Amino acid sequence: MNMFYKQTSEEAMRTLGVSDKGLNDLEIKKLREKQGFNELTEGARKSNLQVFLEQFKDFLVVILLGAALISAFLGKFESTLVIIVVVVINAILGTVQHVKAEQSLKSLKALSSPTAKVLRNGQKLEIPSRELLIGDILYLDAGDYVSADGRIIENYSLQINESSLTGESESVLKTTDIINEDNVAIGDKKNIVFSGSFVTYGRALILVTSIGMETELGKIANLLETAKEKKTPLQVNLDNFGKKLAFVILAISALIFALNVFRGYAIIDSFMFAVSLAVAAIPEALSSIVTIVLAIGTQKMSRENAVVRKLHAVESLGSISVICSDKTGTLTQNKMTVQKVYVDEKVLSHDELDHDKLLEKNLVLMALLCNDAITVKDKEIGDPTEVALVNLGEVYDLDELDIRKDYPRVSEVPFDSDRKLMSTANKLEEKTFMITKGALDVLLLRSISIVTSSGVKTLTANDKKEIERVNKEFSESGLRVLAFAYKEIENEKTIGIEDENDLIFVGLISMMDPPRIESATAVADCIRSGIKPVMITGDHKITASAIAKQIGILTNESVAIEGYEIDSLSDEELKTKVEHISVYARVSPEHKIRIVRAWQERGNIVAMTGDGVNDAPALKQADIGIAMGITGTEVAKDAASIVLMDDNFSTIVKAISNGRSIYSNIKNSIKFLLSGNTAAVISVLYTSLAALPMPFAPVHLLFINLVTDSLPAIAIGLEPHNKNIMNEKPRDINSPILNKSFSIEVLIEGLIIALGTMTAFHIGLSTGDTLASSTMAFATLCFSRLLHGFNSRSQQSIFKIGVFSNKYLWIATILGYLLLEFVLSFKPLMGVFEVAPLTINQRAIVYGLSLMPLILIQTYKLLFVKANK
Ligand code: ATP
Repeated sequence: MNMFYKQTSEEAMRTLGVSDKGLNDLEIKKLREKQGFNELTEGARKSNLQVFLEQFKDFLVVILLGAALISAFLGKFESTLVIIVVVVINAILGTVQHVKAEQSLKSLKALSSPTAKVLRNGQKLEIPSRELLIGDILYLDAGDYVSADGRIIENYSLQINESSLTGESESVLKTTDIINEDNVAIGDKKNIVFSGSFVTYGRALILVTSIGMETELGKIANLLETAKEKKTPLQVNLDNFGKKLAFVILAISALIFALNVFRGYAIIDSFMFAVSLAVAAIPEALSSIVTIVLAIGTQKMSRENAVVRKLHAVESLGSISVICSDKTGTLTQNKMTVQKVYVDEKVLSHDELDHDKLLEKNLVLMALLCNDAITVKDKEIGDPTEVALVNLGEVYDLDELDIRKDYPRVSEVPFDSDRKLMSTANKLEEKTFMITKGALDVLLLRSISIVTSSGVKTLTANDKKEIERVNKEFSESGLRVLAFAYKEIENEKTIGIEDENDLIFVGLISMMDPPRIESATAVADCIRSGIKPVMITGDHKITASAIAKQIGILTNESVAIEGYEIDSLSDEELKTKVEHISVYARVSPEHKIRIVRAWQERGNIVAMTGDGVNDAPALKQADIGIAMGITGTEVAKDAASIVLMDDNFSTIVKAISNGRSIYSNIKNSIKFLLSGNTAAVISVLYTSLAALPMPFAPVHLLFINLVTDSLPAIAIGLEPHNKNIMNEKPRDINSPILNKSFSIEVLIEGLIIALGTMTAFHIGLSTGDTLASSTMAFATLCFSRLLHGFNSRSQQSIFKIGVFSNKYLWIATILGYLLLEFVLSFKPLMGVFEVAPLTINQRAIVYGLSLMPLILIQTYKLLFVKANK
């Protein structure tokens, strides 16, 4: 390990030859060539060829290839060829699906990949963390992930959680001081930050000293589990179901093999048939169809600003019954403008502020100094609350950067949403003043005096009452209020939380943060679809209630409470009351966890939004943690399952609607696969038990498997989303996808298709031509299964959802039909596929019977299925 911890920050900068403007373009170019990127080497990805070869690992494919080999020995080269072609095409399809799904999941990951703020060419900018270089100057704020190792060069109360490296969950207080010892353990290197840790408090400037595999994290990276996307609960369920189903089908195939041998068919033919039946009937594509539909669905969601970080979230989205949402920025626009000011015992509007009144000017000065936001060239950087204050400075032609130069900040206690205060110590000529701003209720408790134009006097109960009255008046019109106070402190003093008392109250600044236009509609959508929207905010109860009423969250039947009231409730009491509480104000992150738990214990599936570092536990506790993409900290994003790129509440509602549709599409696509396969099994079972000739040649089954399986199933998975899906209630998370009604539908639909197929077979048989009869059965099964895709699109009739609205299914069906026609009519193939030329009448029968399931099922849906189901 480098010895940067033994050097002063200046020495460290010199060692790496870095100026205080950060790296410049030329250096970046050179260093990039030398250092590469800041990433941990992942385990080598599988090549496409490897993926392709893996498709042959499947037990059935191996048996099939064995059968092909036996056929070749027996001189049946045509069968061998067909089997090999089918297996290879299947493997190609499997590979394409796998690679596509991987690619889209990868691009999804890239969307939520971490960023870092650096100083380069004298300018602060945000770059992807993988572009960090040794020598970069990195800014760290509360909630940031540290993405490289580095020496601290400026420190403002920085506290870091290093548990991923040291196992220690307490945050470590950092320093810039040098450590003059050898062999210092990681946990004791207080002037170094390490990749993989995160900032819980304060801020700092860091000189990056190691990146990628050279970091302490990189050295143990091979010990860490490589982050592999786990299968979702639905995939695991389907895998288990698939295994059981495979067992049943293998048993049926064995039975049919035995029956056929018993009837005197050649063992090899019986074997080929049994294997082909198993291949055709076992829905090996189940889990991969889920992956591909999820992958494509999540891409759509990310285009609509909801980036899914954990795939299993998509499945649970449809079951959400409660959304606990932040107010500021999520339900409101987070565009704040100062409206009214209270100073010197007067309420003034923004443009009544007077240049010549010292106290009014001082309040604005304080607002600019106890503030980290900047506005440069019309660009606003920082917390919107603070940006609004910077904009207030314009009234006085005060530029925040000039002011901050004139009254330099010597120390600070950063804002945090638990304390709801922020303080800075600024030098004013010979003296130093501490300025504190924050929530009035907190600040008033810490103030002992008040300043008016007649000087500083003791803060009386009457003064407090009056201030609180003004605060209430502001809050009732939905304004967010910040209070300001100050006191003189000793020069050179480093201030801390303990200094935030004995303050002199100066005034209030209130600002408007209007609700987002779309919030009210989104809230109404939630309520209609059985989802309870709840507002959880750090803001004042009256302000929060005013906004909550405007958008429909707070109604006559529900109430608003404050964080301290939660403290006085036991878990059991909260659980009983939670149903009627729509707004939680002055809440700290710990309260969020209790609220989530209370809802969960009532059997709800809860989504919770969050942005701060302290929100991470609540985001993890929620069934779906949702982090803010714009204002959220890296830590919150990391803990969340979904990141909202636009911080907008209505995006959550859209995501839920997408989640519901994706789930229903997956269900339909599984139903399509299973009902089609059931039809094949019923047909074969029927003929075997009824001692009829075999209805299909093995190649028929393989062909059907190839043409009617994955492509239409994927097309059904891509069904355009049902606009009425938000009229339904949330899905019960515990009800399995393959429930009783689902199984009954699969059986009935399978039976109807089998009925058509067997009718075609019997009609063929009646002419005494077994080849023609099996050709008719094969063509009917294949074609009716293709057409059955349209039945599987929705519970509704296609005439209600639009016959042509799923173009993918049309493409898959037409392609399948053309292939079928090719096999049925193209002379050289007819021999290979063991089909007889069909007469016009026979064709008409095949088409008619193939249409029968479509007509029957559609008529049923038109007549008996209610709208919006
Ligand atoms: P939400 O949780 O809905 O996002 P919020 O943004 O109002 O709500 P916090 O950011 O936790 O919640 O703010 C809580 C309170 O702290 C505010 O009502 C305000 O009084 C005070 N506050 C907010 N920002 C600052 C700041 N930058 N400096 C000082 N005090 C602040």
